[in-house]
Amino acid sequence: MERRGSVSRGRGERTSKHASLVRHVFGPVPSRRLSRSLGIDPVPFKTCTFDCIYCQLGRTTQKTVERKEYVPCEVVVKELRDYLSNAPPFDFVTFSGSGEPTLNKALGKMISAVRELTEAQIAVLTNGSLLFDERVAEDLSGADVVLPSLDAASEEIFRRVNRPHESISLQKLVEGLKKFRKRFKGEIWVEVMLLSGVNDGEEHLLALARLLREVNAEKVQLNTPVRPSPERCAALSESDLERALKLFLEEGVPAEIIPSVPSIPTASASSTTDAFTAKEQVRGVRGVEWERKKSEVQALLSRRPCTVEEISTSLGLNASEVVKYLRILESEGKLRMRKHGERTFFAVIR
Ligand code: SF4
Repeated sequence: MERRGSVSRGRGERTSKHASLVRHVFGPVPSRRLSRSLGIDPVPFKTCTFDCIYCQLGRTTQKTVERKEYVPCEVVVKELRDYLSNAPPFDFVTFSGSGEPTLNKALGKMISAVRELTEAQIAVLTNGSLLFDERVAEDLSGADVVLPSLDAASEEIFRRVNRPHESISLQKLVEGLKKFRKRFKGEIWVEVMLLSGVNDGEEHLLALARLLREVNAEKVQLNTPVRPSPERCAALSESDLERALKLFLEEGVPAEIIPSVPSIPTASASSTTDAFTAKEQVRGVRGVEWERKKSEVQALLSRRPCTVEEISTSLGLNASEVVKYLRILESEGKLRMRKHGERTFFAVIR
């Protein structure tokens, strides 16, 4: 799951002082699966039950299965209320962010509060590792869509790709998924992250397809890394993704490929690289508004690497404005830039 700037990254529970400094509502981000998605991040940075090799956020710093109110429900609700008073349009409110959202034991209360505050659909991105827990399943019951992951059909590949907490096995995860399917009234969209040379062998894909058929989700969404990740996982080519899709469909799995570009009209951004290398003047954009926008850009980029176009679409800023804030963040030593295929992504340095 995906990620902050003028934001503290302390481990474990935050004090109320910290809570007032950290933003837990971010975006809306252009999501390839959920259109325009307003994010809620209910756990501290990289607090997760997994340490996936493809994680865009780097290594997990707090690998745990302990459920706690890492971020208090009232803090999230207050931020959301403030945000909604001046919000650009969005389609989903999505619990995701910089760790595993089901680790927050106030998740059920947060979902109920979101339901009262907006008419948007509610989605939860999860790695699925805690779905076996009745309390987690109960917390998720108020969501419209739950999007768990399943990247492996063997314990060996599971350990290699997801590097889970020692108490979690693939068998426990799959049983949890099947149990959750039986009780959850909303839709389940399983994501399968395919990595070249790791979990895309024909035999493994067949075994995965069989497991997924048993899970009986509404959708199975095939993905491959499109953003830079610190461990540089190799993405599947278009033709290899198509090959995997064909195999899944032949096995009766309702699979689709997640498009590599969000299905949202882009703002008036020109080419990313051109935009960033343009000789923009930073002077003259100072003041409170400047600080607020800069911190919005920073918050977005600390959750996931984005292109200029994506920042522009997410935050409703034009491309040249985005470039100004990127330049400022760069001059403050807070920004890194990485090419991934033809696209240039920006991320916050921690
Ligand atoms: S589940 Fe994997 S990808 Fe998602 S935050 Fe945890 S380590 Fe990163």
